[in-house]
Order: sequence, then C-alpha cells, then structure tokens
Amino acid sequence: MEKELFSTALGLAEPVYIDEIVFDQSEGALHIHMDFRRGGKFACSECGSEGLPVYDTVKKTWRHLNFWQYKTYIHMRTPRTSCRKCGERLWIPPWGREDSGFTQLFEAFVMALAKEMPISGIADLVGEHDTRAWRIVRHHVDRAYAKKNFAQVSSVGCDETSSRKGHNYVTVFADMQSKEVVFATKGKDSGTVKAFAEELAEHAAQPEQIKEVAMDMSPAFIRGVSELLPEASITFDKFHVIQALNKAQDEVRRTEQKMNPLLTSTRYIWLKNPENLTAKQKGLLETLRHENLKTARVYQMKMTFQDIYRNVVEPEAAEEAIKKWLAWAARSRLEPIKRFARMVKTHFPGIIRYFTTGLTSGTMEGINSRIQGIKRRARGFRNIDNFIAMIYLEAAGLKMDLPT
Ligand SMILES: [Zn+2]
Repeated sequence: MEKELFSTALGLAEPVYIDEIVFDQSEGALHIHMDFRRGGKFACSECGSEGLPVYDTVKKTWRHLNFWQYKTYIHMRTPRTSCRKCGERLWIPPWGREDSGFTQLFEAFVMALAKEMPISGIADLVGEHDTRAWRIVRHHVDRAYAKKNFAQVSSVGCDETSSRKGHNYVTVFADMQSKEVVFATKGKDSGTVKAFAEELAEHAAQPEQIKEVAMDMSPAFIRGVSELLPEASITFDKFHVIQALNKAQDEVRRTEQKMNPLLTSTRYIWLKNPENLTAKQKGLLETLRHENLKTARVYQMKMTFQDIYRNVVEPEAAEEAIKKWLAWAARSRLEPIKRFARMVKTHFPGIIRYFTTGLTSGTMEGINSRIQGIKRRARGFRNIDNFIAMIYLEAAGLKMDLPT
C-alpha cells in the first residue's frame, strides 16, 4: 500500500520498483530502497536511445522532501547503460538529475524558499550545510539564465553595486524596456562592459544591437561602451548631473561660510528641493537668497539647470539652453562651478541625449533597491558568484525548469 503511494508520488515506472521502505526510528529517517527488475532496459542519459541493457550498477542516494519531520532518502543500485554511440552512461531517474544528491522535488522546495529566505536559513531548516544549498541554487539559476534570450534587448542601463558596504563591486546591466537584469559581473571597470558584450553571444544577441546605454559619468563605463558597444549612444543620468552640480554648490558654500557666519548650518537648505523644506527653512532660504552671497548665486544657477531638465522638451532647445547656462557659468568666477561646466562640456552629447531618450536611472534604482533587499535578507553570501546568482534569481525574470 505505502509502496504504491510512494511509487505514484515519485513517478516510478517499470522496470523500477520500490523494494523496501525502512523507517529508522533512532535516526528519525525514512529510507526508500529502489531496485529494478532483472533484464530491465533503460535509456541512455546522453542521447536518449531506449531499450539499452544494463552494463553495471552504482549505488546512489538522494535526499528527498521530508516525510513529516523525518528526513527521507532514496537509495538505488543505479544502472549504467552501455550505448553504442556514447559508451557507458549512468541512468538518470525521474526523481533526480545528474550530479545531485537531492531529488528534483527537494531542489524545487529549496528554490521556492530561496526567493523568500536567506540560503543559510534554508540550510538550517532542511538540516544541510549551506554550501550544499548554495550548490542547488547556483545550478538552477545558471541553467535558467543560460536559456534567456536577449535578441530583443536594445536599450540597457548599467550601474554598480556592492555585496557588502564598500567591498566586492558588481556591475549590473538591465534591459530598460523589460526592467530585468540581463547581466551581472564582478568589478566596476571597463572589463565589465567587455564581459557583457561577450555574454550577449550566448543569448542569441550581439553587441551591435545595443543602441542606447544609460549610466553615470564613470570614465571606465564610458570607455567600455564606446569601444565594445559600437552602435550605442550614451545617456548620462540627469540625477548624477544634478548631484555633481550640488557638490559644486556645496563647495562654494563651505568656502564662503568660513567668512560669512550667516551660512552656518544652512547646508541642507541649499541642497534639498525647495518643496521638501519646512516653512521655517523656506523663510530662511528666502532671506538668504536676497543677501549678496556667492552661495545664493550658485543656488540660482542650479535652479535654472534643473528647470532645463524639467521644462525643456526638444533636444535642440535643451542644447541651446545648456550652452547659455555654460556661458553664464564661465563668467561666474567660481572655480567649482567652472569645473562642473567643463565636465558638462566633455560629456555634452550624453547629457543632451536625455532629451531624446528620456532614460534615467529610475529603472536601475528600482533594481538596486531589490538588490539591497537580498543583502538585508542574507547573512552573507560566502562569495561573489553566490551574490550574482541571487541577483539573477531576484531580478532577471528566470523561468525555473522544476516540478511544482
Ligand atoms: Zn547514447
């Protein structure tokens, strides 16, 4: 009776049958012993040729889903077939896969949990070492990722993140249309773009199909993209541009504050968007703006630059407005602002490109916050490849080929 139940549950078919079920009270484990009938024929696991005789057998054990609180193991003298084309091959039973000591259902269970729980927690739950749990995750993520097709990807964003604060950088490339991660790799240098360009070939895609790349002004990414994604136009993220301008503004304020006590403790008033200030801060800002302050002048310049991003629609109009702004900056006699203006000049096409593509780092930030979620959940990844596997599992839209 219970043999029949287990046979159905495991999808057994002749010539394989359950020989014996042993419940070991002392170790709290259930052992299912399989066997196959004498003269049974099997398929070659390499080419699929059926009806092959058994050459010899290898004893194997698989951990299966717990039966209640009891660890459950399947044991079998597993046949090796002798195939004319492939030689001797180990038969792969319907409950397992090659090179795994776990059944497919057990692995499906681990993968279902991996999206919600830290891997170390899953390992504790199922009573396995976490390196074994990681091996399961890595195997299924790798397999699902290998099947991804990137033929339609033409617009990507790239950004860096780290597995821990300030350590182990990972560069992430995402499809700006599907908002899914298409590639993640170690490092934050131009080599990451090379790795991305090479990976495309594994997914029915090629570097030439990438027409747009959104990113910050990292020189390494710029060099990588211009060398290795020959058809791509770069859009520099507007938030990064404004951030650089904010930095210049803050530099001016810090220098001026040394001579002018009016500016003490006003840093955030100048940095925040006016709509995010309290009534009291707004009042102070209005007062300060009418003082003859360099900081107030720079603040006005920043507001004007932000207005270009906010209000200008046509690329030609934006080009004209920014050029006008640059002339103003050149006359400012403020070194941090002149330095910012030079940066805008050297990155001009990519800054103007925003007014054509409308690409921002919003998508990348969305992905980044999901990655932060993985990091919060994890109690460490052991290594960076595990971290990358978790990024794919979380944000690459993988389709797992596992029983449900
Ligand atoms: Zn074969």
